[in-house]
Amino acid sequence: MVPHWVDGAPYTGSGTTTSPVTDPATGEVTGRVALADVADVQAAVASAKAAFPAWRDLSLTRRTRILFRFRELLEERKSELAELITAEHGKVLSDALGEIGRGQEVVEFACGAAHLLKGSMTENASTNVDLHSIRQPLGPVAVITPFNFPAMVPMWFFPLAIAAGNTVVLKPSEKVPSAANWMAALWAEAGLPAGVFTVLHGDRVAVDELLVHPDVEAVSFVGSTPVARHVHTTASRHGKRVQALGGAKNHMVVLPDADPDVAADAAVNAGFGSAGERCMAVSVVVAVGPVADSLVPRIATLAARVRTGDGRRGCDMGPLVTEEHRDRVAGYVAAGEREGARVVLDGREVRPDGEAGGFWLGPTLLDHVKPEMSVYTDEIFGPVLSVVRVDTFDAALDLVNANLYGNGACVFTSDGGAARRFEREVQAGMVGINVPVPVPMAYYSFGGWKNSLFGDTHAHGTEGVHFYTRGKVVTTRWPKRATPGLDLVFPQND
Ligand code: NAD
Repeated sequence: MVPHWVDGAPYTGSGTTTSPVTDPATGEVTGRVALADVADVQAAVASAKAAFPAWRDLSLTRRTRILFRFRELLEERKSELAELITAEHGKVLSDALGEIGRGQEVVEFACGAAHLLKGSMTENASTNVDLHSIRQPLGPVAVITPFNFPAMVPMWFFPLAIAAGNTVVLKPSEKVPSAANWMAALWAEAGLPAGVFTVLHGDRVAVDELLVHPDVEAVSFVGSTPVARHVHTTASRHGKRVQALGGAKNHMVVLPDADPDVAADAAVNAGFGSAGERCMAVSVVVAVGPVADSLVPRIATLAARVRTGDGRRGCDMGPLVTEEHRDRVAGYVAAGEREGARVVLDGREVRPDGEAGGFWLGPTLLDHVKPEMSVYTDEIFGPVLSVVRVDTFDAALDLVNANLYGNGACVFTSDGGAARRFEREVQAGMVGINVPVPVPMAYYSFGGWKNSLFGDTHAHGTEGVHFYTRGKVVTTRWPKRATPGLDLVFPQND
């Protein structure tokens, strides 16, 4: 049984429902996770609220030292965390280590809190009047995360929130609960006071209570678009700051002047890494003009070489997260075929290096996909790469820009002018030029446009610092003489 983590220790809670935890590579139920009821949410938030004043008041030097210690412990022990991720999510071990590395970058960024939280100062803005600005923490904040990055997505948020002096209640996906508890124990070992980092497991009951709880000041959410929209609407209505990152449909535009070998490599790595269960996975290749005829066979050849199997056996690609999700993704392949797409490589026929009960689907390549097909319109979130053929660069840009999602988009070309035009005109939050998965470094901010993000603040980087702090501007005068009596006129500067 995976318990919650409240007040610096495992916490059973009063909720009576649980959810199974499954190993996707075997299909076996390996445990259960406690699901919070409303009383558990209230206990978790009360603990976070109680811990806030002392944590806010601890000096920046001391807070930062704890972050450094967390970073060091994470670096030493990340292989343990990777094993937990593989056992519950299914991604191969090297990929699990990769996501931890990207999360660790945010911890490292947050270790610079002393610099990030600096205000500004203007001397003598008006005669004998100085101004300075400060940024202060908000209080308890909720972080609600999806199944596909059990370590990295929580780490997009909690290092900065904690560094800035907030306390955090993390509600991870109930499909992959153990990574969060492992990180909570690591925080405790690093010296974080009890109550600063809380883990609350649960489903929509827990989420819905966090969204309306009066002591939760801000909500960072990552998940599917319908839930992101619900989170944004509900939490905003209850007066909270919200950043709600949603789903994606990332396009890779390949122009006729691109090197087809480089583009094919990129399409396979970005399409099938983590079995396509990445919000920045490429799911549509937009082949412009004649490039399709050289690109599609190259992608098919490379993709056929991907070894699908148990992530602990050195394979390239693991299973999908649940049986239901695998069946849903396979259903999209069938629908695409029915609607007229050509199945160049069929992952339903995969022979995995893994147990028969695993949730397998091999790399799948669909050619001649049309924008009206469900395989194009919907977020599939699996190892299915669709090729849409268009005649011109204009048509490619129009296609990307008409899509409801706008997380990432990339172009492969050797023409600097075309790349520049793509960068300027594409409607997406993260853009790659000959880079298929343009996930920014921690010191930039991560986030999409359109239905890929609700709210106006992206994750980490400067926007993350702003999200987790409130600005205050102080105007100061130390008069040399007594104040000159009544003066009701609005203050003027001179
Ligand atoms: P999900 O929306 O099902 O779940 C996300 C979180 O919301 C989980 O903690 C879950 O317990 C909770 N939740 C689920 N249904 C809910 C409901 N009805 N009400 C309240 N809370 C609910 O998403 P998922 O399947 O775990 O993750 C995959 C999705 O996340 C994909 O759509 C993917 O694109 C998206 N994602 C987006 C980004 C990004 O940066 N934009 C990053 C990672 C994942």
